[in-house]
Order: sequence, then structure tokens, then C-alpha cells
Amino acid sequence: MPRPFAPQSAFVGSSDYQLLPFRFHRLDQQTEILVNECGEFLFVPEGTARKIIQKEFPANSELYPTLKAKHFIYDESSSPLLDVLAAKYRTKFGFIYGSTKLHIFVVTLRCDHSCHYCQVSRQTLNQGQFDMSRDVATAAVDMMLQCPSKHITLEFQGGEPLLAFDTIKYIVSIAKDGAARLGKELDIVITSNLAFLTDDILNYCKAHEIKLSTSLDGPEFIHNSNRPRPGGDSYKVTIEGINRARRALGSSRVAALMTTTQLSLQHPIEIIDEYVRQSFHTIFLRPISPYGFALRSQHKTGYETDAFFEFYKAGLDHILELNRRGYNLVEIYTQILLRKILTPEGTGYVDLQSPSGAGLNVLVYNYDGSAYATDEARMLAEMKDYTFKLGRVLTNSRADIFTSPAFVALLQQGCNQSLPGCSDCAFQSYCGADPVYHHATQGDMTGHRPTSGFCRRNMKVMEHLFSLLRSGDSFIQDVFWGWVTDRNLAEMRASIPQ
Ligand code: SF4
Repeated sequence: MPRPFAPQSAFVGSSDYQLLPFRFHRLDQQTEILVNECGEFLFVPEGTARKIIQKEFPANSELYPTLKAKHFIYDESSSPLLDVLAAKYRTKFGFIYGSTKLHIFVVTLRCDHSCHYCQVSRQTLNQGQFDMSRDVATAAVDMMLQCPSKHITLEFQGGEPLLAFDTIKYIVSIAKDGAARLGKELDIVITSNLAFLTDDILNYCKAHEIKLSTSLDGPEFIHNSNRPRPGGDSYKVTIEGINRARRALGSSRVAALMTTTQLSLQHPIEIIDEYVRQSFHTIFLRPISPYGFALRSQHKTGYETDAFFEFYKAGLDHILELNRRGYNLVEIYTQILLRKILTPEGTGYVDLQSPSGAGLNVLVYNYDGSAYATDEARMLAEMKDYTFKLGRVLTNSRADIFTSPAFVALLQQGCNQSLPGCSDCAFQSYCGADPVYHHATQGDMTGHRPTSGFCRRNMKVMEHLFSLLRSGDSFIQDVFWGWVTDRNLAEMRASIPQ
């Protein structure tokens, strides 16, 4: 039965309107952003929030129906719209269903590199006692498969995981058998510096549809400086590895990530141009994690949040310019935030989730059988801080892990809806809580937002993105919508009716 049109009275404002939960942020002298509980936003003239709250908002205003439709206010004709709001809210938090999707297996701590920002205590090549045993591997795979999620990503990390390739093969074989038995889909990724890549490994990856992810920190002088190895040739080895892997697996199965160090901060353009030179179409301008061994080498890697923001801003400008010149290049952090800002969907990105994705969306199985809430939690443990150790796969059940005091604390202090500072922040529904970061940097999982580097960075990045959305530059809007919908600019423009 078709729904009848609402009567004319439904479109007429009423000064009897009620407020729905929303937050606001002053973007500049003239503009405020209003954001509702589901992350829908409106740019409005400065002072609008005050007028709405004080019920001074004129019922005959042009904005009134929009405020009602976007769930900032409601009146007597609003009840069907409130059901829509509930549905949107459920969609936004859909990532909670299905529990942990990303399972990281640290199969060895051995590595040939000694990167300044190395986040684990890497061991030299002959230290076999730092490899994962078969017993631990079997128990960790069991735990992974018990997670209710139908779609699981299994990621191998290290150290350098290719140094323990027999263990990888064992885990892949039992994980694939188990997933097939339980009707689960399994994606497999190996994060590697590619120095130990062989034809046999590539053939195996091809046969098992395994993706490779590597580190590329920029042009040779930055990459080699950030990532020392015997011979000082990490860049050459990485590029050769990328090219071999692409030939064997196809370009879409080989990804690269960069980490921003103090040296990188001066060279956003050169780093991005290196990604273009190597024919990548994505780049993630990632700040360094201020944990673990990165803290010890802070004189080489540390920097202020504001310096990172200037790097990000210059980088994003350059990326937009490259798109303008016809080269499709996506900045991943921007893409994640834009998906949260412009679509009703949540994303699976752990750092920007509330409740925090630590444990809930990612679990890390260390070589020694310890289970951690995130990779950063494992780094802290390498510095003898075991706050986020959830248990041991050989002696604890999945129920033990998810009712452990550490996991409960993460949940309690991992909801930005109730954190001081975040609870009334307009950017709350796009942002996260990151209790591991705040514990590591401020000694307190709740954290103090006015002095939090996490807060400052995200606040500045989101203000910048909203300014770009507000700028009226139709090219930027098209690029951003292309990133959100995974379409390149030509596809994006072809889909818009002329
Ligand atoms: S961390 Fe900062 S930017 Fe993010 S929601 Fe909290 S107050 Fe807002």
C-alpha cells in the first residue's frame, strides 16, 4: 500500500518544536556545523544553534523543514521520521555486530631491519625461540574461528613474518579448513618488508589468494633512513619485491603503507610523488604510533601533532592537485573520515570507533600465545606494560578473553559518547575513543581531551575536511564522493545525470 502524502500542515513550522540530540561546532566567524546523533550534518549561519535551543527559531524559516527532516528538531507531525532516525542509528553502529573481524598473528619477532620506529622488540635472525609454536598457532586459529563474524581477515605480522613461512603455511591450511567447515569467508594478508620473498612464496600466495602489504616510506633517502638494514638497501629491496609481487599476484594484491617520521614531515610532496612513481593509487598519510620502542627513539621519530597536521594538509592539497591533473590517488585516512561524514555506514577502522575497536574488532595473537587488544597493546607489553593483555590462547577460552578485566576496562572507557570532552563534541560520531593511545600517552585510558594529541589531530583534520566540503569547489566534492563510493573521477562524473 503506497504511503499517502503528508498533509500540508506537516510542512508548516511550529514554535512548539522539541529538540533532538545534536551537537555543534563553529567552523569560522560566519559558519556553524550542526551534527545529529547519526552524524548527519548541516552548515548553518553562526548563531543558529543558540536560536534553535532557545526556541527562537522562526517557524516560517526556510531551514525549518530541513532541521526536521535531518532530525535536529521534531514537532507533532514528526513521529514516522523518528523511526527513520532509529534505523540510521542502527546502521551507523552495524560494525558492532559479528564481533572481531581482524585477527593478527605475530608469527615471529625475528627481523633483518632495525627501523627507528619499530613497534616491537625485534630479534635478530638466529633467535628461533621468538617464533610461534604449532600449539600456539592451533589454539589461536581455534579462537579466531570461534568469533561469530562470517567474514574474517587473517593478517600475518612480525618481526618479518616471511622468516617463519612454514608457520604461515601451517596456519593457512588449518584456518582455511576450519573456515570452509564453518561457512566463513577468509581474507589473508601478509605484512612483510619483502626482503625474503622467493618464487616459492609467491606461488604459494597466488595459489591461496594471499595479499601482500609492505612498507614504503617514500623516496630512497627517506625510506633507507627510516628503515635501516644490513647493506643500507631497504628501498631497493622493497621496490624489487613490489615489482616481483605485482607480476606474480597482480597489482591489486600488493599494497604499501608509509609511516611519518620527523624526516618525512619536511617532504610530503616527495613521498606522495614516490607513490605515484611506483603506480600506487592509494596512500595512507599515517602518523607514528607514540608507543613502545618508538618512544625510545623519539629524538629520531617524535614530533608535535601540529607539525603532522601541516604535513597532512600539504599532502592532501598535493593529492587533490594530482587528481585534478588526471591521476587517481586516494588518501586513506581522509577516505575513512569522509565515509563516516557523508554516508550512513560505519567503518571497520579500529582507531576511529566508539565503542573502541580494541578487542571488539581486532585481536592480536603474539608468538608466545598472549592475546592483546590491538597491535599497539602488544607494543606496550614489549615495554613491560601488560595493561591490555587479555589472556593466553593456550589456557584461556574466548569467553575468558572477552570478560577479562582488561577488555571490560577498554569497553568502559572506550565509548566517546560518555567521555569528558567527547560527549559534547560535534565530531563525536566520526571520531573514536582510543583508550590504548590515552593510556600510553597520558597514563589514563579516559584521557584528557584538551591536551590529547589524538583529539587535536582529529579535530584539526575534521575541521579541514569540513572547510573543503564547505568551499563550494565542485571538483573537490566530486573527488571526495569518488573516494567514498570507490569510483574514479570519470566513473563518478558519468553517473551524475546531466
Ligand atoms: S577525541 Fe576530540 S575530536 Fe574526537 S570526539 Fe573526542 S573531543 Fe571530539
